[in-house]
Amino acid sequence: LMQLFIPLNFFGFMHREIKQGLVDLEAMFELMRQPAEVIDKTDAAPLAVSGGAVRFDNVSFHYDADRPILKGVSFEVPAGKTVAIVGPSGAGKSTISRLLFRFYDVTDGSITIDGQDLRDVQQQSLRHNIGMVPQDTVLFNDTLLYNIGYGRPDAEQSEIVEAARLAQVSDFIASLPAGFQTEVGERGLKLSGGEKQRVAIARTILKAPPILVLDEATSALDSHTEQEIQTALDEVSQNRTTVVIAHRLSTVIGADEIIVLEAGKIRERGRHADLLEQGGLYASMWDRQREASEAQERLRQAMQGD
Ligand code: ADP
Ligand code: MG
Repeated sequence: LMQLFIPLNFFGFMHREIKQGLVDLEAMFELMRQPAEVIDKTDAAPLAVSGGAVRFDNVSFHYDADRPILKGVSFEVPAGKTVAIVGPSGAGKSTISRLLFRFYDVTDGSITIDGQDLRDVQQQSLRHNIGMVPQDTVLFNDTLLYNIGYGRPDAEQSEIVEAARLAQVSDFIASLPAGFQTEVGERGLKLSGGEKQRVAIARTILKAPPILVLDEATSALDSHTEQEIQTALDEVSQNRTTVVIAHRLSTVIGADEIIVLEAGKIRERGRHADLLEQGGLYASMWDRQREASEAQERLRQAMQGD
């Protein structure tokens, strides 16, 4: 029965998206990657965003019933504030971002935006109000202009160019013979992780949503690129409710609250200075990262020296 049930729901979902005018073939493929079980209620209303306050209330979640991933997670991001989520790989950080975007429904507890449960609102309106810069951006097989402009289909070309500038990706685009008309993606120019991420940031700057979810994947980037991305992210998160998943702790010093997630539970929370003072998991992660970057710096100097 399940095998029959899932595809039927799935095509119902796709059919509605198509009717709503989303006929772009590649956008459809993007939709197809989403799980089928998340369906709008028949009486779902559009999300009404006033300030964009996000609240996780005792959220538990599993992908597979025999393996809990999030275990009673509660936190709040007041309108316009920034909450950072840090913690070891596999802790469930990206899962939090997927739940907020409602790629999946929570197993227990609830997530609300300005008091509205995500399960009661139209998915399209939810996703319209959230800008997500994921860990692994997939670009459309189309031009850079299209890939950035997708953030707001009615944008003027001048606005697209400005978004690219704010996202620190203008110089890169200017260096390409075809500029904004360069074809990218599987069949076009392959971009590096950092370039793809800045294209995604430009798209999000253009979209200008009230709520932002940033899954920073800067660990593999050189420090110059990382700095450029950080500048771009700071630009886009100003005055927006922001959830930032941080791999480099240097990027969360200014967050209004830092949540340390470990094995699906909140282990510590507070501001940077408080957490350092506590001398717990965050403090030891901080020490480790500082040692690593100091070692890197010494190595760089040694290689530069005669
Ligand atoms: P983090 O971002 O903190 O590194 P994730 O939220 O990506 O962690 O993943 C948390 C756990 O959930 C990991 O153990 C991961 O293997 C598992 N997981 C992630 N996505 C899926 C999925 N689609 N199906 C099953 N397990 C998953
Ligand atoms: Mg992750």
